[in-house]
Order: sequence, then C-alpha cells, then structure tokens
Amino acid sequence: MIKIFLKKGREESLLRFHPWVFSGAIASIQGTPAEGDLVSVYSASGDYLACGHYQIGSIAVRVLSFDSNPLSSDFWRNSIRKALDVRESVGLYNRNSEQTNCFRLVHGEGDGLPGLIIDWYDGVCVMQAHSAGMFRSKLQICEALKDIFGERLKAVYDKSSGTAPFKAGLDLCDGYVYTAPGFDDKEQLVLENGHKFLVNWTEGQKTGFFLDQRENRARVGRYAEGKRVLNLFCYTGGFSIYALAGGAVSCDSVDSSAKAVSLLNRNVELNFGPDTPHKGICADAIEFLKQCPQDRYDLMIVDPPAFAKHRGVLKNALRAYQRLNAAAISKVAPGGIVFTFSCSQVVDKEAFALAVFSAAAQTGRRVRILDRLCQPADHSVSIYHPEGEYLKGLLLYVE
Ligand code: SAH
Repeated sequence: MIKIFLKKGREESLLRFHPWVFSGAIASIQGTPAEGDLVSVYSASGDYLACGHYQIGSIAVRVLSFDSNPLSSDFWRNSIRKALDVRESVGLYNRNSEQTNCFRLVHGEGDGLPGLIIDWYDGVCVMQAHSAGMFRSKLQICEALKDIFGERLKAVYDKSSGTAPFKAGLDLCDGYVYTAPGFDDKEQLVLENGHKFLVNWTEGQKTGFFLDQRENRARVGRYAEGKRVLNLFCYTGGFSIYALAGGAVSCDSVDSSAKAVSLLNRNVELNFGPDTPHKGICADAIEFLKQCPQDRYDLMIVDPPAFAKHRGVLKNALRAYQRLNAAAISKVAPGGIVFTFSCSQVVDKEAFALAVFSAAAQTGRRVRILDRLCQPADHSVSIYHPEGEYLKGLLLYVE
C-alpha cells in the first residue's frame, strides 16, 4: 500500500479520530496513488496512524480505519452492520414496522465511512459515493449489503453520477448494482411515521426523498391543527402530508420543480383522497412569497435547498437566508408559526440564527424562538467530526 507521511505535528487531528487528511498536511508520498486507492498514513516520525481513500483535492485522504492496516476482509460488512445497529437501537429499523420503513443507513463520516451515503427504502438501498474510493468500492459495498440483509434486500441502486468526483476518469452512470429476482423497478411506496410516500430514486432529487426532515415533519404535524399552512420548497410534500394529517384547515405547497409537484399531488391523494384542501403550486417560492397577501397563512415551512455549497459564497448565502426569512416573518398572520431551515453545511447554527435574527429585526415584528431544530439520529454526526452537522432550523412564533 502506498505510504503518505505527514508534516511534523500534523498528526494531532488523526489522533483525535478526525477522518480527513488535508493536502497541506502531507510532507511526502511514497509512490503515485491513483484517485480512490487505499493509502496508509504515517506521522513524520514514521508511526502508523490510519488508512483511507486517496483523492486529489484539498481533502487528500478520507480515513476508513484508525487501527487496521490494510482493511480486514470483513471491513465493509462490519462497518455497515454497525451503522444498522445504531438505526435499530433508535427504533428506525424494525422488521415488522408499519410506521417507518425508510431511513438513512449510512451517513458518511458519522458512520466511519467518509464519502458514502446509503438510504434504505423498504429494502431498496440507494447509494451515493462522494469520493472516488467509495465509487470504486461499490461492488464490495453491495456484497456487504447482500450479506447483512439477505432476502430483505430488494435492490441496490447507485446514484453517484452527480456526486462522485469525475477527475478519476471513472465510468459514472447511475443504475442498479443488484436486483433481487422478481424486483419490479417502479416507484417505491414507503412509510414514514405511518404516512405514505412515493419515492422515485431514478428521477427524484438526491436519493429520492429528504429523509432528514422526518422528525421536523412530525413537529409540524403537532402544530398544524386548525392552521392555514404554506409549505415553501415542498419537494414531494413531506411537510404537507404531516400538516394535513395534523388537522390543518388548508395547505398550499410550492416548489419550482414540476416533477416534484406532480409527485406531491399524488402523495396527497394517496394519503387523503381527492377532496383534500390542498393546492400544489409549481412556482418560484421567493416570488410566491413576495406576491402573497399579508396574513393569508398561520403556519409556514421554509426549507430551501442549500444556498451555500462552499465557503466562497457564504456571505451571499447569508443575505439570501435573511431576505427569505424576512419575507416569511413579515407575511405570516399574527400569532403565526414559522419553521425555517438551512441545510448548507458551511452555514453553522450561529450564523443561521444571526441571519434569522436580522430578518426578524428587519420586519419589526416580535418573534420568539420556540425550538431549535436539527438533523435526526440516522444522519449521525461523529463527535470528532462536527462538520457532519448540516441541517439546522428554528421554530418561530410571530406576534
Ligand atoms: N422540504 C422538502 C425538501 C426540500 S429540498 C421535503 O421535506 O421533502 C428543496 C426543494 O426546493 C427542492 O424540491 C427544489 O426543487 C426546490 N427549489 C429550489 N429552488 C426553488 C425556488 N427558487 N423556488 C421553489 N422551489 C425551489
């Protein structure tokens, strides 16, 4: 295995289990690793520290193991099994579940598998590799999934074309890595807290569904009784279904994607039938809010896509969060509720709270913070890798 030696003193973060080696920390490389190769990492004094996937870029190594060199033959099975144990222990994986049968099975660094995402949709695993190493390991990952789940595994779908780095010159083409005999490649119907959702991983965004909002959706359900609800950036209607089930008197859901709105309408009908007080609207959410009459809604959900995908655009993103939140806070009816979120990893919770504070101040309205929201347990965060925390939200009460 190719050896990488760090500069003096740069081993500290690895000794504390932080799973990244930055290119600036490297003193020398013995050999020429290809992207995605397994490499071992040594301190300046020659002590073995870790092994992981090599990649060209600012994060040069993503660590897979701090103790074995090279990886043991059952590494993938053990790592994914451990991730499943966590989901089992928090009640998400349950063989007979009539409540929830979809969750994130592997959340990258949070599960000791940097660069790998696997979402479980009632037996279908949709994987996304964010590194060349994970992309090149997909057959081993698939074998491990078959071993762990046996007959419960219906299919493994690789959806890495939009996430894996292209520099490696790899053949990136989404598709099934495995299908069980009789598997029918159609939309999957899944259950989340007893609500039904159609998920389409081939045509939908990300792996098909935003599993990270499960618990915040349940909160919306608890606040919805008697409310006129507006769900902005609704995708396929996660929050809308919970709001309607929770007793909302009406719900308008807005998304700029026509495909998302079409699936949203089907999800509403699937759960509540054809005569539901719901409107799916294909529009720009920001324009919609601008034109929205004052006091039309009592509860708003504001869950935009990541405004900042990297640090370079942080300032603009914070301004965009402020503008969007000011519009929502100013339009909601007196005594109204606003659930507002940011899923930009580079916007931390303090920066987001400051943007929302500035938004509130701009409107001149009295605003209380009723709750602070975050990502659920299956989007796990290693305590040694705080960068894994990305979803944050505030539950606001507007006088
Ligand atoms: N709340 C959703 C997830 C939102 S993801 C859920 O619980 O499932 C962000 C969504 O914003 C995507 O569906 C995307 O199509 C939509 N979007 C992006 N830009 C938009 C815009 N300017 N106006 C409306 N929707 C937008």
